[in-house]
Amino acid sequence: MGSKKLENFLEENLGDLKSRGLYNVIDPLQGANGPIIKIAGKELVNLSSNNYLGLATNDKLINTCIEATRKYGVGAGAVRTINGTLDIHVELEEKLAAFKHTESAIVFQSGFNCNMGAIAAVMDKNDAILSDELNHASIIDGCRLSRAKIIPYKHSDMDDLKRTAKEAKESGRYNKIMVITDGVFSMDGDVAKLPEIVEIAENFDLITYVDDAHGSGVLGKGAGTVKHFGLSDKIDFQIGTLSKAIGVVGGYVAGRKDLIDWLKVRARPFLFSTSLTPGAAAACIEAIHILTESTVLHDKLWENGNYLKKGLKSLGFDIGESETPITPCIIGDETKTQEFSKRLNQEGVYAKSIVFPTVPRGTGRVRNMPSAAHTKEMLDNALAAYGKVGKDMGIIE
Ligand SMILES: *Cc1c(COP(=O)(O)O)cnc(C)c1O
Repeated sequence: MGSKKLENFLEENLGDLKSRGLYNVIDPLQGANGPIIKIAGKELVNLSSNNYLGLATNDKLINTCIEATRKYGVGAGAVRTINGTLDIHVELEEKLAAFKHTESAIVFQSGFNCNMGAIAAVMDKNDAILSDELNHASIIDGCRLSRAKIIPYKHSDMDDLKRTAKEAKESGRYNKIMVITDGVFSMDGDVAKLPEIVEIAENFDLITYVDDAHGSGVLGKGAGTVKHFGLSDKIDFQIGTLSKAIGVVGGYVAGRKDLIDWLKVRARPFLFSTSLTPGAAAACIEAIHILTESTVLHDKLWENGNYLKKGLKSLGFDIGESETPITPCIIGDETKTQEFSKRLNQEGVYAKSIVFPTVPRGTGRVRNMPSAAHTKEMLDNALAAYGKVGKDMGIIE
């Protein structure tokens, strides 16, 4: 019956997590991840998905996915570089480049894979990467894979970025130096200071890399954080995901043509992992079409985000400094935050607690992700639950 060492390891570590209340139990949804979800037979207002524009359940996307599946099958059959590149993969890349105002784009199976592949394709052990301390886990792992020296700078602290850039440059130790940041930080909903980052990058000759997973579809009238700041020709790597606002699955890098050509011969998840399914590729093309045709969904998302923020604030909650529809409700104490989320659930609202070590100790929060698919009534129901639980737990008056 298997390795005794493994058994001991699992018993000890799982037991430890469970005894400290840190073992995450996953709740399966009984149906789609829409604005209302069903868990264990109970319907809940969903404030936890990244499906910002509601496209995951959009009829046009669903039909396109079904049609493409009939035409191309359920799987792509190979990695992109053997014969897993379908014409719809190429079309998707062309559409993404146009959407991002870049020369070219390359599609991966996920945003996570994108960061696994793109960073290490360009950076190596003779290089350095300046990385915002709150960057996403996939950026951190991608940086590690490259074996470059990782130099963290304080979150969105431009003096600290300047200091680390100057030190790295003047040390003469590194061949290339890159600065990497999320476009939108998902825990607080704050936006990276891209104009300042670009200026520092120009002064110290840095390669610029922006992972805009939470910005695409949300900022810049949908085109993302880089477009929002008018910096489309100043950022070397624009990373995006097809699994959040786009509503499907996949990731991409948009940039200059020679960079994309290089990634197509060097990014390992592109070379060694089967390409995006035909249904997903076709649905993504349709999503980009919808996003470029009209800003109706984008505008609705912001309207709903602002409505929820205003409601929580007038109830007396601390909602932090978000600049996007992401709306944290900061409770503070870790146990209290988890209890708050559980109580919301009992009142019909699904909003996850996020606590240390994902966010600093003492800043536990329930994070709300409103979407374009929510109605005012759903948001009013959520606000009523917040009011009730907040008063019951003595967090608001
Ligand atoms: C969600 C996220 C990813 C991962 O994207 P997937 O497509 O879900 O793999 C990568 N980077 C950032 C900044 C993210 O927020």
